[in-house]
Amino acid sequence: MTKKRQQAKEKRRQWQDSRPRCGLCGKTSNLTKTDCCGNWICDDEHNYVMFSYAHNSCHRNHNRYTLCSSHFHEGHEGSWQDCPKCREGFETEMYVWYGTNEYNFEKLTNPPAFEPTHCAKCKKVIRLAEGGYSHSVDGYFCGRCMNIRFAEQK
Ligand SMILES: [Zn+2]
Ligand SMILES: [Zn+2]
Ligand SMILES: [Zn+2]
Ligand SMILES: [Zn+2]
Repeated sequence: MTKKRQQAKEKRRQWQDSRPRCGLCGKTSNLTKTDCCGNWICDDEHNYVMFSYAHNSCHRNHNRYTLCSSHFHEGHEGSWQDCPKCREGFETEMYVWYGTNEYNFEKLTNPPAFEPTHCAKCKKVIRLAEGGYSHSVDGYFCGRCMNIRFAEQK
C-alpha cells in the first residue's frame, strides 16, 4: 500500500515537471494546442483588443504572423520550412520575418538573403514587418512620404 502511494507521488511529480507550457512565453495556465503544429500555446486570443494591432496574444501572433500557420491554413503539403508555395507567396523580407520571428516554435534555419526595402521617395529603409508603410504601383513608401503623397492628392 505504501509503495503504491509512493508511486502515485512519483507520478504526480513527473506530471508537474512535464506540465505543458506555452511554447512561446512559457506560461503553464490556460493553454490550448495550435491547429497548425500541435504545440501548446496560451489560449489568449480574447486578450486582443480589436484593431489595436497589439502583439500580446501568443495564439493570435502564431496564427497571424507565421509561415507555420499560413502554410496550414492554405492547405499546403509537407513542412512549411521547405514549402515552395510559402516561399513564392510572400515578399522575401516578409517570408524571412514570418519564418524567424519570436512567434515561431521552430524557426527557419537557412532564411534566404534579401535586399532591404527602401522608400521609393526618400530612400529610407522600410521594415515591412513593422508596418506603417504603403505599397502602390510606384513602390513602397514610408509613413512620412505616404502622408505627403496623400496630402498632395487632395
Ligand atoms: Zn504564451
Ligand atoms: Zn504552428
Ligand atoms: Zn506552404
Ligand atoms: Zn520616404
